[in-house]
Amino acid sequence: MGAGHNGLTAASYLASAGLKTLVVERRDIVGGCCVTEEIAPGCRASTTSYIASMLRPEVIRDLKLAEHGLRMVPCDPALQVPFPDGQLVSWWAERDQVVAELKKISPKDAETFVRIDGRLKKLARYLQPFFLEPPPEPDTKSLEGWGSLLRVGQRFRGISGTEISHLVSFLTGSLGEFLDRNYQSEKVKTLFLANNVYGKHGGPYQPGTALGLLFHLLSGGEHEAQGFYGHVMGGMGAITSAMAAAARGFGAEIRTGAAVAQIDSRNGRLRAVVLEDGTEIRTRVVLSNADPKRTFLKMVAESELPPEFVHAVRGIKMDGPCAKVNMVLSEEPRFRGTPPNYSPQQRSLFTLVPSLEFAERCYDIAKFGEIPEQLWVDCVVASNADPSLAPAGKHVMTCFVQYVPYRLRSGTWEEKRDLLGDRVVSKIAEYAPNVPDSIVARQVLTPLDLERTYGLTEGNIFHGDLTLEQLFFNRPVAGWSQYRTPIAGLYLCGAGAHPGGGVTGAPGHNAAHQVLRDLKKGRLKEAVA
Ligand SMILES: Cc1cc2nc3c(=O)[nH]c(=O)nc-3n(C[C@H](O)[C@H](O)[C@H](O)COP(=O)(O)OP(=O)(O)OC[C@H]3O[C@@H](n4cnc5c(N)ncnc54)[C@H](O)[C@@H]3O)c2cc1C
Repeated sequence: MGAGHNGLTAASYLASAGLKTLVVERRDIVGGCCVTEEIAPGCRASTTSYIASMLRPEVIRDLKLAEHGLRMVPCDPALQVPFPDGQLVSWWAERDQVVAELKKISPKDAETFVRIDGRLKKLARYLQPFFLEPPPEPDTKSLEGWGSLLRVGQRFRGISGTEISHLVSFLTGSLGEFLDRNYQSEKVKTLFLANNVYGKHGGPYQPGTALGLLFHLLSGGEHEAQGFYGHVMGGMGAITSAMAAAARGFGAEIRTGAAVAQIDSRNGRLRAVVLEDGTEIRTRVVLSNADPKRTFLKMVAESELPPEFVHAVRGIKMDGPCAKVNMVLSEEPRFRGTPPNYSPQQRSLFTLVPSLEFAERCYDIAKFGEIPEQLWVDCVVASNADPSLAPAGKHVMTCFVQYVPYRLRSGTWEEKRDLLGDRVVSKIAEYAPNVPDSIVARQVLTPLDLERTYGLTEGNIFHGDLTLEQLFFNRPVAGWSQYRTPIAGLYLCGAGAHPGGGVTGAPGHNAAHQVLRDLKKGRLKEAVA
């Protein structure tokens, strides 16, 4: 149910195992929030997600996505921050180049980076295996629980006491305090910030934000490079069209324009899904790619679920806090400080966030329901990385915006959509003054638009905030982290399940394998109505 990238991944694995698989998607296109859409005649943009960084190499290989046309080009630089004083600082893919760039700002910080980077990468490698398997369900009252705990123990075999304490600091500490402790230059700290806390509630000084440093060092891309960032040729939709082709190739059927209205169950056993047009589809197993609130609070009868489960699902923190503004421009944006010899690809990423304090203040304003005047804007001039996205002479720029509230203190998002768009343009104009007069088309996606168009409850881009209390065995809610749900035969396979949001394919992969294991063990026989 749902043809987001996780739904398609799950469908591919199920169909490839020989199961008769049908994907029903409410929109007219597949992809969920991993899509390429036309935003002006002949101009295509990755309207929602825009950079591929954590797509699991195993999924790329198993689904043979390259054979289905997926091509990703490493972003080099992986990110770039123009500062208000006119300096542009780039984070290159090659470590030696990063060190050289940091040296220009602070030789001491460059040394610190060399010292810390290896340590972070090593810690990230301890977490990596947890990505592609169900999280442990710690419980010392069952054999399965003990097995889970043993598995965790084995994963950390060889870890030193110092590494454990570092890991705990990363899981619980704040990015801001980590950076303040280790680095001197505000610019260097901002460079780290520019790569972190995306889509999350909380500024860089919120506890738990340091974990992002490790998440971003998980390997990605076909060649499993640690800290991979990729431009997807044809936009992010090329990932999901390759996945749809893979799923069809394995024998799955995909039906778009087919919204599920109800997941029908009797006495805790799945019976069927009912589409909005009244079509009933009897089925043994449903994997829901919709987020947990949408799945359980909108589509399953409340009487079918334990009250404490419903209470926990209602409590999942979603609530924004991001928006997206996509633009077509009549000329390339000229960001100040860009060296004249940079190639178009090197002129494609510009993150506008001048300091940690700026980001912290921005979140403080948004958390009280206001739209900050000073926004953090992450700009990608996508047509510089892939000229096929726009006709010659035109440019496509996508801008991810944080922080903005889902619930406004006053007024409605319908009334404030243009205000948000204008504030984003003013912010960009501070760094690229030619942009305002070159805008040919502008698409503003508020958190409410993300909910209405893309089906993201409360506009949350990860189907639930990525905070420690909502991760691992607490995702989506405690006791139900292994893709199963209180309805036998109904599973979650989207970003609301472990390991969470981002274009990874991991929840879809893990949920499908859980279903296959349950079928093998005969666990689902009783679920057949
Ligand atoms: C603005 C934005 C920017 C982002 N930027 C990035 C980025 O650069 N890099 C990155 O890695 N991640 C990014 N993300 C996050 C990432 O895109 C998502 O976390 C991820 O794509 C979620 O995938 P999914 O398959 O689990 O769910 P979704 O993509 O949300 O798919 C769920 C699908 O279920 C369908 N559905 C829902 N209800 C029903 C129903 N009743 N019947 C039938 N179908 C239904 C929906 O229409 C949708 O197609 C971004 C997200 C957004 C919104």
